Amino acid sequence: MQDCIFCKIVNGEIPSTKVFENDELVAFEDLNPVAPVHVLVIPKKHIATLNDAAEDDEGLLGRLLLSAKTIAREKGLSEKGYRTVFNTMRGGGQVVFHIHMHVIGGRPLEWPPG
Ligand code: 5GP
Ligand code: ZN
Repeated sequence: MQDCIFCKIVNGEIPSTKVFENDELVAFEDLNPVAPVHVLVIPKKHIATLNDAAEDDEGLLGRLLLSAKTIAREKGLSEKGYRTVFNTMRGGGQVVFHIHMHVIGGRPLEWPPG
């Protein structure tokens, strides 16, 4: 989608440090990490928010979620623990309107989040 920064990361218009890529997903380092490990995983297909995901996206989003365990393993977090987060809409903290999963860890994470 035009003017979507994450679509631009998918097509290489905006550079990123990629952690993982396949035919339908891209994982890359967050530009402003909030923890020692902060990776974003996005579908290559533009879906603005979780609200816009369709029944047909079930498999894609399932695979997106499962990619977190691979990233966690590669970052050494499988046993220590980590957090997977989808912020949805402004009130949920969403700033970039292309669905993404944060994979965060490498320091103690408090609950509840702010
Ligand atoms: P949100 O608040 O929408 O859930 O998260 C958006 C995330 O995208 C933020 O953590 C922010 O640091 C990250 N981000 C925004 N623009 C860019 C960018 O151009 N490159 C990368 N790698 N991360 C970005
Ligand atoms: Zn997009």
